[in-house]
Amino acid sequence: MALAAETKRIVAQFEYSDADVNIGVKEFLRQIDEGLEKSGTSMSQIPTYVTAVPNGTEKGLYLAVDLGGTNLRVCSVRLNGDNSFNLTYSKAAVPKSLMVAKTAKELFQFIAQHIDSFIKEHHYDHYEHHVRRRETMSNPEGYRDEHIFRLGFTFSFPVQQVGINKGFLIRWTKGFDIPDAIGKDVCALLQEEIDILHLPVKVAALVNDTVGTLMARSYTSPGKTGALLGAIFGTGTNGAYIEKLSNIKKPLEGEYDTSTGEMVLNTEWGSFDNQLNVLPNTTFDIKLDSESVNPGIQMFEKRVSGMFLGEILRIVLVSLLQDKSVQLFHDDNSSHNDWKSTTTIAPESGIFKKWGLDSAIMSVAALDNTPDLGTLRQELDSQLDVYSPSMEDAQAFKAIASAIGRRAARLSAVAVGAIVLQSGKLTDPAQGDEPIDIGVDGSLVEHYPHFRTMIYDALKAIDGIGEVGAERIRIGIAKDGSGVGAALIALVAASMEKKQPTAEESLKQVRSEALLQNSGRQLSAVNEVPEQTTPNNEEAIDA
Ligand code: ADP
Ligand code: MG
Repeated sequence: MALAAETKRIVAQFEYSDADVNIGVKEFLRQIDEGLEKSGTSMSQIPTYVTAVPNGTEKGLYLAVDLGGTNLRVCSVRLNGDNSFNLTYSKAAVPKSLMVAKTAKELFQFIAQHIDSFIKEHHYDHYEHHVRRRETMSNPEGYRDEHIFRLGFTFSFPVQQVGINKGFLIRWTKGFDIPDAIGKDVCALLQEEIDILHLPVKVAALVNDTVGTLMARSYTSPGKTGALLGAIFGTGTNGAYIEKLSNIKKPLEGEYDTSTGEMVLNTEWGSFDNQLNVLPNTTFDIKLDSESVNPGIQMFEKRVSGMFLGEILRIVLVSLLQDKSVQLFHDDNSSHNDWKSTTTIAPESGIFKKWGLDSAIMSVAALDNTPDLGTLRQELDSQLDVYSPSMEDAQAFKAIASAIGRRAARLSAVAVGAIVLQSGKLTDPAQGDEPIDIGVDGSLVEHYPHFRTMIYDALKAIDGIGEVGAERIRIGIAKDGSGVGAALIALVAASMEKKQPTAEESLKQVRSEALLQNSGRQLSAVNEVPEQTTPNNEEAIDA
């Protein structure tokens, strides 16, 4: 009984009411404004210099690499120009040791090696062609890059971007900590390792995963208007949205096209309300933060995203296990237990280890509605070494996990709702009947049951949105968002490489250089190079 009562008390602490949601939205709007006025604010509102979103007619073959936080994804994307695409993809977990490597080189070498094996496995012709070409060019200056893969690098950490393929790391988040990378250009770090392996790859664009998600959603979603917001709910959380240039009061240093009157801003909302003006702050949140690598930073993210939800739950469970009067995962008398066997928790259970509880089990808990919670109980056994958990144990686990998950979804609605209100689209006649489109990506929003439904429920409670407004908001998964988005931005980058000679010019030059070398063998080798169109909105490379 003590367990049930204690569970109730804890669940209440994670309650995030409609009134709280509204207070949160007001503060979010205030911090949006602050970030538009000046730099150095908690929500950075980083200008991306991307001033337009795609419309689905873009074409070409590109490489994309996504360093998320948990996984490294390498893919190639063929944009077909009709809202559709084909994607080839490989994925690897980022080893924990590399997240805290001594030098940035170790991490970027790992990425380059994965690009190497991906190209050899899926684009061997292209690779071999490149090698052959290199061998035939004895003069390195005669080498031209028109057959090089343009790569969009999705790097989901805060960077100060100063060019389409140049950005300096501001700080690590999500448990990464490689001090020697701070302040360095992450594209240059990657290009260096790619060049060491002699790969035909140019890091053409640096992409934040949120911007990529926004781009991908705009490319694939039908309808007259593009998406307003791209949002991530994965290891971390963040969003990028389209803001009117006239609202951006702080100076914009880079070059950009003013014709659309808009620019995509990367909010870095993971750091919304670091000062804790309005965010809920239980003793469990406090403990998580104080034991994290970056106390006082990413305070919104620490209440919302996949990396942290499991850890909050774990901290709650540890506090319950320390209270001997509560009897969680513990009974001396097997008759207390409907499985008639003694419940124990192994000392090596993940519950006793920092980051030892993956948020994924919270999805299992939320999904299990069987009368005896059999699935969850098996999962507690297999994932967390809790032997023969009782029904009461599973009920407590499920109730607390669900409260943490629900609070996360309702906090997510604060961010989404505030940005919808900031856009003014709900009252903009130009929007007409078109839904306000939002692309989302990340394992949490994709797999946690009813995460979007819970977001919608909270959106309905927001003043200025309501039931009617919430119905006009369309939140859709941007499937493969980071890959497609990175490809789209690499395409934009390729079309910006104006100063480079066109492919035709390069080819002419290559031929004349080859002729100068007066070798028939070399010339014929050069002639085997397929003809190439300009990189502009066409096939940027030939595979
Ligand atoms: P990344 O952030 O690297 O792009 P993901 O979007 O896959 O990767 O997010 C990984 C995060 O999502 C991890 O923190 C993991 O614990 C969490 N996660 C994975 N599956 C689930 C799930 N079914 N329910 C809740 N969280 C999940
Ligand atoms: Mg991701």
